[in-house]
Amino acid sequence: ASVFQNVAQAPEDPILGVTVAFNKDPSPLKLNLGVGAYRTEEGKPLVLNVVRRAEQLLVNDLYRKKEYLPITGLSDFNKLSAKLILGSESPAILENRLATAQCLSGTGSLRVGAEFLTKHYHQRTIYIPVPTWGNHPKIFMMAGLSVKTYRYYDPTTHGLNFKGLLEDLSAAPNGAIVLLHACAHNPTGVDPTQDQWEHIRQLIRSKNLLPFFDSAYQGFASGSLDTDAQSVRMFVADGGDCLVAQSYAKNMGLYGERVGALTIVCKTTDVARKVESQMKLVIRPMYSNPPIHGASIVTTILKDRNMFYEWKLELKAMADRIISMRRQLYDAVSARGTPGTWNHIIKQIGMFTFTGLNSKQVSFMTSEYHIYLTSDGRISMAGLSSDKVPHLADAIHAAVT
Ligand code: PMP
Repeated sequence: ASVFQNVAQAPEDPILGVTVAFNKDPSPLKLNLGVGAYRTEEGKPLVLNVVRRAEQLLVNDLYRKKEYLPITGLSDFNKLSAKLILGSESPAILENRLATAQCLSGTGSLRVGAEFLTKHYHQRTIYIPVPTWGNHPKIFMMAGLSVKTYRYYDPTTHGLNFKGLLEDLSAAPNGAIVLLHACAHNPTGVDPTQDQWEHIRQLIRSKNLLPFFDSAYQGFASGSLDTDAQSVRMFVADGGDCLVAQSYAKNMGLYGERVGALTIVCKTTDVARKVESQMKLVIRPMYSNPPIHGASIVTTILKDRNMFYEWKLELKAMADRIISMRRQLYDAVSARGTPGTWNHIIKQIGMFTFTGLNSKQVSFMTSEYHIYLTSDGRISMAGLSSDKVPHLADAIHAAVT
C-alpha cells in the first residue's frame, strides 16, 4: 500500500472546475462564461499584437541572457509598474518611499504582501469584502493572517451596500488590514463612486486601518489606465502607508506568464529600504526569484512610447468589447421581457456581471443550455460574443420564468 493511501480526494477549484466541466461537454452549443479570461468575438484567446512585437524583439536580441533575476525581479519592471499604478507624478515615487517587488502575477503579489504583514505588522487581521474573489481568504489564511469580512454587495439593489461597508469598517479594530479591489470588483462588478471612495479613505485613515489594494484589472474596467487607478492614487496622495498588488494577466493578456508586482508605500525612504530588505527574506525561501520572460515583455512595452501607446489602444478595444457585450445582453433580456430588473448588467463594471441568478438557476442553465458559469451567478462578459447573446438571453429567461 502507498504511504499516501489515506489522502482524501480534494474537490475541484470552484472557478477552474467550471472549465473542467465545460471541456467534458460534447454539445456544440456549449458556452464557457466561468473563467475570467478574455476571448475575442470569435471566442478565441487573444495575444495582443504589442505583446507579439515585444516578444520578437526579445527573441532577436542576441545579448539576452537567461541568468537569474535579483530576488525582487527586474528593476526597470518594478519602477515602471509602480509608475503605472501610482501615476508618474505620485508623491511616493518622487519622494522615493516605496518598495516594489516583481512577483508571480496578482496572486503571488498578494501572497508575498500577506506573508510580509504576518511577519512585520502588528495587526494580523485582514478584512475582505463579501463576496470577493474565492482565492482571497485562502491566500491570506495560508500566509497566517486572520480573515474577517465587511459587507460590500447588496443583492436587493445589485449595488454597493455602502452603509454596511462603513459600519463594518468602523467596527474593525484599530490598525486592521483592509483588502480593497482597486477597480472592477470581482465577482460583483460593483465599485464605489469617487465620493464613496473618499468617505472610505477618510474612515480608513481615521482608524489607522491599513489599505491593501488588489489591482487585477487596471485599464480593463473603463478602458483607461488612469481612471482605473484613481482609488489607489487617492490613498497614496494623502501620504499614508498602503500596499498594492498588481497583475498583468488581464490588461496585457499575460495570464500564464505570471507577471505582477507588489508595492509597499511607506512614509519615508528609510522605512521603504528596510521594508524592501525584508521583502527579499520573504521571497527567497518561497521561489528564490521570479521568472524573466513575462516581466521582460512588460518592461519592453512600458518603456517604449510607441509600444505603450499601442498597448493602450488594444487594452481599450478589449474593454470596449466587454462594455458592448453588456449592452447587447441587456437589450436581449429586455426584448424577451424577462421578469426582474436587469439594469445592473450595464451598470456593473469590468469583466463580470453578477447576475443575481441563484445556484439552482445556474444548474438549470448548464444542464438545459450548456452554459457554464460559477454557481454564484457570475458570468464572464469577456467570454461572450454577439452570436452567443441570444442563446444566453434565452437561457436566463427560461431560468427565471
Ligand atoms: N485578484 C482578483 C480580484 C482577480 O480576479 C484575480 C484573477 N482572477 C487575481 C487577483 C489574480 O490573478 P493572477 O494571479 O492571475 O494575476
